[in-house]
Amino acid sequence: MYSIFDIFKVSIGPSSSHTMGPMIAAKHFRDLLINKSIDSEVNKINAVLFGSLAYTGKAHGSEKGVVLGLEGYSPETIKANEIKSTITKVKRTKSISISSSNKIQFIIDENIIFDTKTSPKGHSNTLEIIAYDKNHNEILKKTYQSIGGGFIRVKGERKRFALPKESPYEFDSCDQLIQMCKKNKMKIDELTLENELANMSKTELRKKILSIWQVMNECIESGLNTEGVLDGGLKVKRRAAKIYRQLNKSRKLDPLKAMDFTDVYAMAVNEENASGGKLVTAPTNGAAGIIPAVIRYYLEFTRNSNKEGIIRFLLTAGSIGILYKKNASISGAEVGCQGEVGVACSMAAGGLVSALGGSNKEIECAAEIAMEHNLGLTCDPIKGLVQIPCIERNAMGAVKSINAARLSMLGKGTHKVTLDQVIKTMMDTGKDMQSIYKETAQGGLAVNVVEC
Ligand code: SF4
Repeated sequence: MYSIFDIFKVSIGPSSSHTMGPMIAAKHFRDLLINKSIDSEVNKINAVLFGSLAYTGKAHGSEKGVVLGLEGYSPETIKANEIKSTITKVKRTKSISISSSNKIQFIIDENIIFDTKTSPKGHSNTLEIIAYDKNHNEILKKTYQSIGGGFIRVKGERKRFALPKESPYEFDSCDQLIQMCKKNKMKIDELTLENELANMSKTELRKKILSIWQVMNECIESGLNTEGVLDGGLKVKRRAAKIYRQLNKSRKLDPLKAMDFTDVYAMAVNEENASGGKLVTAPTNGAAGIIPAVIRYYLEFTRNSNKEGIIRFLLTAGSIGILYKKNASISGAEVGCQGEVGVACSMAAGGLVSALGGSNKEIECAAEIAMEHNLGLTCDPIKGLVQIPCIERNAMGAVKSINAARLSMLGKGTHKVTLDQVIKTMMDTGKDMQSIYKETAQGGLAVNVVEC
């Protein structure tokens, strides 16, 4: 069983599948070398990226992820200033410390290879890391698949890094989840809480959930206080800070002001993501702005909002994310943006209903509406950068999730289409989608907007 902390993980930008995944894979490889006591024999390491990682890895910071992981850093613990300084050091010294006692030559442009010619088997985001000794013999080779949201599959190993947890209320579908809640007279957040308590105390759990919210909120604040042009060559200006100032200046009574603030909070997070900042996968980096923005909407624009509501929000949204992870995909490279922004929108809609005290039926209905109107959403980032359409798309997704929550609660959660049906439809649509629309920057806006 997944934990909500498999869905909400502290990450670095710009991509959970293309930056965070390769970083975790490279760290896993380094740990293996050390645990097998063969680190001292290593003379050379190559990392070969295939599929979507090869097409958009450069723009998505995959090289950065590989280097940081091989240097021993994890997304959770790395400090913001260590990211830049480590990359600069590796570039300047043309070397990498594969363990405390072995520093080897490593030239990023030579030792990290983007192979767009070989089609990967199994998953579009495939990465191979190979270590050689001084006689050019292979001493360790591992194949990794970065399957979205920072999850990694290791070829030949059954377990994923995000370890399944034992929990009292295992569920495979929304239908099962709702039935279990009914039988035990629980709300979805209460059942999720019980599942998480199998692994930690209530005090620890509350602290962990609130610390996730703290990182999300700090990311919003950082985005609201930073201006300039985003890296990557598209010359995209950061807009969140300026719009936020304008919104705070104007005293005009505007019934849609809540929407403007929600937009700007989502954009603030995704501008931070695009510039390699620290954030929380929700469920991915590319879609990380939606849930924090909707929580800020809940806190600032709804009555009686409080900390307990934030906890209910994240517990419920986490379980909805688990349903998508189990039964479909949260990877843009596998199912397009419907698996990232679409899933975040669905999670946020259900989470908001839960924070507002809505019923399980209303939660399911809100999550279903939010996904239903994201079906078919493609992933076609211009120049492969997580900037256009990604930043604005999070603003659109946040507002759409609020709308879905309101629509559901106004209709008391009455619905024809179930969440399970829409999750299956999303996966089927993703399978039918051409690969040019799945994080390869080979179709859509990526080919029609050449100059920006
Ligand atoms: S278009 Fe969507 S899935 Fe693709 S990189 Fe942007 S946010 Fe991620």
